[in-house]
Amino acid sequence: MDFELSKEQIMLQEMVRDFAEKEIEPYAREVDETGKMRMETFQKLGNLGLLGIPFPEKYGGAGGDTISYCIAVEEIGKACGGTGLSYAANTSLGASPIYYFGTEEQKQKWLVPMAKGEALGAFGLTEPNAGSDAGGTRTKAVLDGDEWVINGEKCWITNAEYARQVIVTAVTGKRENGRNIISAIIVPADAPGVAITSPYEKMGVRGSNTCQIVLENVRVPRENLLGDENKGFSQFLYTLDGGRISIAALSVGIAQAAFEKALRYAKERMQFGQAISKFQAIQFKLADMAMEIDLARNAVYKAAWLKDQGKPFSKEAAYAKLFASEMGFRVCNQAIQIHGGSGYMREYGVERHLRDIKLMEIGEGTSEIQRLVIARKLGC
Ligand SMILES: Cc1cc2nc3c(=O)[nH]c(=O)nc-3n(C[C@H](O)[C@H](O)[C@H](O)COP(=O)(O)OP(=O)(O)OC[C@H]3O[C@@H](n4cnc5c(N)ncnc54)[C@H](O)[C@@H]3O)c2cc1C
Repeated sequence: MDFELSKEQIMLQEMVRDFAEKEIEPYAREVDETGKMRMETFQKLGNLGLLGIPFPEKYGGAGGDTISYCIAVEEIGKACGGTGLSYAANTSLGASPIYYFGTEEQKQKWLVPMAKGEALGAFGLTEPNAGSDAGGTRTKAVLDGDEWVINGEKCWITNAEYARQVIVTAVTGKRENGRNIISAIIVPADAPGVAITSPYEKMGVRGSNTCQIVLENVRVPRENLLGDENKGFSQFLYTLDGGRISIAALSVGIAQAAFEKALRYAKERMQFGQAISKFQAIQFKLADMAMEIDLARNAVYKAAWLKDQGKPFSKEAAYAKLFASEMGFRVCNQAIQIHGGSGYMREYGVERHLRDIKLMEIGEGTSEIQRLVIARKLGC
């Protein structure tokens, strides 16, 4: 049977596309220039039920599947890469771990408001000395009676300034083999001792909030431990596998935006007495761009479908993320080339796509780490 989207998925796609064209795209340049996340957009996304797509209705979600969620990420990312990143991080990193690993009480307390669009969340894994090597986490959590006392520092955490809670990873003990036990703990953003700032000037995805979090003797109840104390590491690997599918979908959205601008421009721009789209050199670029975007989208849908079927999807998520992000970089770069000097100018909005897409090759596991994941799955 040929792959095709269901009626519900097509309806969702049309609804999100329409919303994104009217409510997100017109502000894309402004949020890029100011470097400020637009909260009004997130309130509206919440009102439309788009912040809870993949979560069951009993937790305030829309009961959709991962493909539907990816469709929404693509459309939002096409309108604005920064907004797309904050949207994807909120669902994949802020909310999903609570859905995957949380107790019923944690789901009611933390997931339901997020799925209903009443609160945002964040996921703090990265530290100044623990990036790709997340096992190098230095943040520590020690039990003192019925409370965890947490000390440490997290960097580049998406949405934290606007989040109600941040899931942080911390060392909670040592295994027999001497390796650290890393656990995940839900930290209310307003807990005493939590300092969240956004001191970074970013190259792209500037409409997304990126934060430093300093935790100084932060006390949270023992029951804020998320999932199994001993399995924090495998929990966040699973979380990142899911997140990678959404970063791939976001890459497809950004690439699609750049491609559509390039195609339109190529048909309008006259040189040597004809539209530049009549030159084979330009046609071949456009053909490659269209083909690669379609292939990447298929890779996204396949990984999402596997996840929904409860089948292993880690390798396919890495395929999708690696291919879509590198494809996106090629497409955005060629879109500038097709625009010539105009492409280099802010006014045309194509250079923003190149700045935005670059993050996709870095966040949620760099391209090198995706290749490592794939090589390991090949038994290397
Ligand atoms: C805008 C933005 C938003 C982010 N949001 C979040 C967030 O919400 N939550 C969060 O926890 N983190 C977040 N991050 C952090 C992001 O996930 C990390 O930047 C990323 O995992 C890479 O880590 P690093 O930057 O420390 O690079 P490093 O790990 O220092 O890597 C540097 C270079 O070395 C390469 N490298 C490292 N190890 C290997 C290896 N074994 N083999 C081959 N090459 C290797 C890398 O691929 C890279 O090219 C965000 C980052 C940015 C920029």
